[in-house]
Amino acid sequence: MSDSADLICFSCRIVLPIGMFWNVAEPRELFLRSGPSSDDPLLGKALWRFLAEHVYHQVELLGEGSEHRWESVDADFITIDDEEVQDPTLEQYVDEWPGRTLAMSPRPLCEATRLLIRSAEQSWASGPGTPWDCLTSEDHTTAAELNDRLVWPESFSTPVDAQALTVRLFRLGAGIELLAAAADRPLSASMKSFLAECRSILLPAGRLGPDGVIHREGSTAPPSLFDAERALGLIGGFFWWAHPSGG
Ligand SMILES: [Zn+2]
Repeated sequence: MSDSADLICFSCRIVLPIGMFWNVAEPRELFLRSGPSSDDPLLGKALWRFLAEHVYHQVELLGEGSEHRWESVDADFITIDDEEVQDPTLEQYVDEWPGRTLAMSPRPLCEATRLLIRSAEQSWASGPGTPWDCLTSEDHTTAAELNDRLVWPESFSTPVDAQALTVRLFRLGAGIELLAAAADRPLSASMKSFLAECRSILLPAGRLGPDGVIHREGSTAPPSLFDAERALGLIGGFFWWAHPSGG
């Protein structure tokens, strides 16, 4: 059976895939599409860079079977050379990649949102039946709508001019308002409470305006905006699990 190996820093939320392997092979060897991982000079550089950058951090080497740990890896984690996102590529990672400072910046709102989501997952899954049986049909409808509308934000490497900043701040405010409006619907107590907590986490971000963020024209997004956008994106993604067609 094939398996894959990934180095992950849980402190910085970054994933470095290091290859596939046959788990019956002895001795075990990691492979990339191009051949053995150990023969790939670019991966070698990336590996040493990763190890040097994350000394003292919470680094783990996971395989596909490390399911309980993968549950803690959400969309806010950055995967190097991800086939879908391509941001950053392996080439960029070994050099100075665009948006690196922003991507590695602390994200307190994402952290608080992550803890809230884990807590909701545990409590909503603790009852009888499937995890989301405790939710009403109105909850499911609301979850589907929020999943649809709270989309994942743009890449950390996208330069932001004044107009783009205004658009993104407006979109952020609208997303937070959407959560507030949803909480006013006739929902179950657990759904209402979850939405209220999401809103209280994101409340400071709702007051962000063009004057409230420090931004240099053409640079990447301000860290406070980036953090809030991704926290909102985590909430939207969580609702994929909470409506009947998700999970
Ligand atoms: Zn780290």
